[in-house]
Amino acid sequence: MKIAVIGAGPSGMMAAFAAASNHEVTIFEKNEKLGKKLYITGKGRCNLTNYVDASDFFKNVISNKKFVYSSIYSFDPFMTMDLFNSYGLQLKVERGNRVFPMSDKASDVIKTYEKMLKERNVKIFLNTPCETIDKKDKFIINGKYSFDKVIIATGGISYKETGSTGDGYKFAENFNIKLKERKQALCGALTNEPLDLSGLSLKNVEILAFSEGKLIAKEFGEMLFTHIGVSGPIILTLSSKINRLSKVKLYLDLKPGLTYDELDKRILRDFDKFPNKDIRNALINLLPRDLIFYVLKKSNISSYKKVNQITGQERDRLKSSIKKFDLDYKCLEDINRAIITSGGISVDEINPHTMESKKVEGLYFVGEVLDIDALTGGFNIQLANSTAYLCGSNI
Ligand SMILES: Cc1cc2nc3c(=O)[nH]c(=O)nc-3n(C[C@H](O)[C@H](O)[C@H](O)COP(=O)(O)OP(=O)(O)OC[C@H]3O[C@@H](n4cnc5c(N)ncnc54)[C@H](O)[C@@H]3O)c2cc1C
Repeated sequence: MKIAVIGAGPSGMMAAFAAASNHEVTIFEKNEKLGKKLYITGKGRCNLTNYVDASDFFKNVISNKKFVYSSIYSFDPFMTMDLFNSYGLQLKVERGNRVFPMSDKASDVIKTYEKMLKERNVKIFLNTPCETIDKKDKFIINGKYSFDKVIIATGGISYKETGSTGDGYKFAENFNIKLKERKQALCGALTNEPLDLSGLSLKNVEILAFSEGKLIAKEFGEMLFTHIGVSGPIILTLSSKINRLSKVKLYLDLKPGLTYDELDKRILRDFDKFPNKDIRNALINLLPRDLIFYVLKKSNISSYKKVNQITGQERDRLKSSIKKFDLDYKCLEDINRAIITSGGISVDEINPHTMESKKVEGLYFVGEVLDIDALTGGFNIQLANSTAYLCGSNI
């Protein structure tokens, strides 16, 4: 059979490789080269997968876990690593089980895909956007190329400069295939009045997200202030959990290891040490210096007030600001700057064992174009590879 694959990101290349063991496969890629987004993954190092078994993998999938069971069980992280190893790519496992190429170069991952495609004689049309897909007896691409089956692997709509401009959604809509609204995921957040703390990184803090007054999510770890708001690991994770919620408020617990009582004792100890100092200088062992100004501002305490003049009420307000520092959340960062697009082709439309459309025989969707997304750590490229491998090998 003649198979067309639209898009040469990880999902398109893996689907082409898997299908090419039995069929004649052609990739259409609009860019001048393969895997343009892959070059910027993992800060140029490409976090290819995560060294965990399937059950731990699913804990990191945010949308439609059940839908990807077949894909992950058919082609799990260990099989992925074995496959890349067998084509000469040496890998290493880092903190959080993140898997990277030994060379730290995303380009080596792309070279490995190239080698795999070449070995199976996959035809590659670069600089060739797929503009139309029509179905008669066969699928007709751009009005002239005829194929028995088509695999759509066009990605999401973030970092559009890499080629992921959402074309797959338009193809789906033309076939009356339903989509779930696209939202940014794994991205930073904007605050109403960004604090002058850009570059300040906090470790061992907890972020609390409320929607309509209800606690929705808590994340513990590291975060970063930016010139527009906040980012860093715990904010990225949180973004995937709040991107469809309304009336969101974000608070920071700057001392999650201490209860209010313990924090009170801790503050009193510092006060005992520095009774005659300005309060801003008495908190330096408790909080990063740059943050003290804002904590005091939120507590409505003058930075210059002497410690021995601080009232009990002021100390209560101070504790509240430390345990529930209001980040004055505005919204999430623009989708074009998100690591991943959540939403896309509705999984109700797709057979999870083959990735084939339930409505259009011979039409398949793989990778980020689908309504699937996961946390950081190599899980998203693995989802792309797993859905693609399952699809290609079933064909
Ligand atoms: C900055 C950044 C860092 C990331 N780091 C990681 C990481 O380290 N680990 C991880 O797991 N995930 C990471 N991700 C997410 C990961 O890159 C994606 O989930 C993954 O690339 C999705 O693969 P895909 O093949 O489905 O889509 P894409 O990689 O988006 O590929 C789609 C391809 O289709 C092509 N295309 C689109 N429309 C057409 C058309 N009409 N005709 C022809 N070609 C077309 C595009 O040009 C593109 O090459 C990162 C994302 C970003 C933005």
